[in-house]
Amino acid sequence: MAKTTGDSCTFCGRNSKDVKLLINGLSGAICDECTLQAYEIVQEQTTSKQSSFHIDQKELPKPGDIKAFLDQYVIGQDEAKRYLSVSVYNHYKRLLQKVTSDDVEIEKSNIIMVGATGTGKTLLARTIAKLLHVPFTIVDATVLTEAGYVGEDIESILTRLLQAADYDVEAAQRGIVFIDEIDKIARKSDNPSITRDVSGEGVQQGLLKLLEGSIVNVPPQGGRKHPEQRMIAVDTKNILFVCGGAFDGIEKKIAQRLNTRVVGYAASKETATVDRNNLLRYITPTDLKSFGLIPEIIGRLPILTYLNPLDRNTLRSILTEPKNSIIKQYSKLFEMDGIKIIFDEAVYEFIVDKALEFKLGARGLRSIVEAIMMDAMYSMPSEEKKELHVTLEYARVKFEKSDVNRLQVA
Ligand code: ADP
Repeated sequence: MAKTTGDSCTFCGRNSKDVKLLINGLSGAICDECTLQAYEIVQEQTTSKQSSFHIDQKELPKPGDIKAFLDQYVIGQDEAKRYLSVSVYNHYKRLLQKVTSDDVEIEKSNIIMVGATGTGKTLLARTIAKLLHVPFTIVDATVLTEAGYVGEDIESILTRLLQAADYDVEAAQRGIVFIDEIDKIARKSDNPSITRDVSGEGVQQGLLKLLEGSIVNVPPQGGRKHPEQRMIAVDTKNILFVCGGAFDGIEKKIAQRLNTRVVGYAASKETATVDRNNLLRYITPTDLKSFGLIPEIIGRLPILTYLNPLDRNTLRSILTEPKNSIIKQYSKLFEMDGIKIIFDEAVYEFIVDKALEFKLGARGLRSIVEAIMMDAMYSMPSEEKKELHVTLEYARVKFEKSDVNRLQVA
């Protein structure tokens, strides 16, 4: 145990022998316990005075600004970006709305985004939160179960948001929650009563409470509620919920609906204009209902938008264009060791080809680049060479050498 030679703590008066550590200043000393206490006081004072999560009408970015910011990080997906920008803007206008006598109360605009996995749903929500400086958390709907069953209670969503807000309840109450894989809590069958559906409709009912806006008692450390635990009351009225899901197979339901609708008058004209390769464009709340979301939940997610599948050109852009694109990140890593790295255009094409071949989407781009760069990342920091030229041949050899099969199953 380290002890200094000072005599006693100026704050509590205890002798250096009675404390673990005494820190000497110019004209006094402070012990370890007083230091901790002082730290706690500073924390308390600063967080209560100025919450770091603050919104101001003047600072509120306009939908166009929000979209422009998203464009820096997310490639394509213009439709989703526009919907998201407008609803986030309206959400914060609603928060800033002054109570007036005209009784017009703006309703919350929770969002649901439908699109294949790896098309940028999480990235969009995360980027929005970055722009707005509000607490943000991502939860996976698959781990949620009805209270009392194995899995996480619905309240755990709010525990995470509180944690993201450093337990600043005010801030958490204006935060954004991204609920991923919302499609996984769809009703398992059309008949709601056959067996207990603890991870399906039951969870939807629980979630409804949060989406509607209510005061929920949240266990601050998470875990199951128990009587002795202190609870924090969180009002969800102003929390923006953004849900995302792949809704595998929903295209079939959309197609069915489109087909039945287009029978008869002007049918041929309408069918001709339907983009069969991207049926998600035509998604409506009815399709979500056929998929197994309960109407009450759909009603609480009034903004419905979709993400496009990532084609070759988009994947190619994702590789190099976003502000923190994968290639920029790797270049930065090497740069920190004073190494300049140059990629041939053919290498980018090769990476995109492999991502398409293995059906890995944008998520796969990183694993492929990692496989190509691994050897250099291992050996170059201890070598003299300060430049690496990645040619197609180099990329191919390194990629073949890596555990390609691992990528295939990923
Ligand atoms: P989802 O939530 O739709 O499953 P993510 O947002 O988690 O997908 O995307 C996975 C990764 O793929 C992201 O971290 C990002 O690097 C990349 N990505 C996906 N779509 C895009 C896009 N449109 N623009 C830029 N990067 C993207």
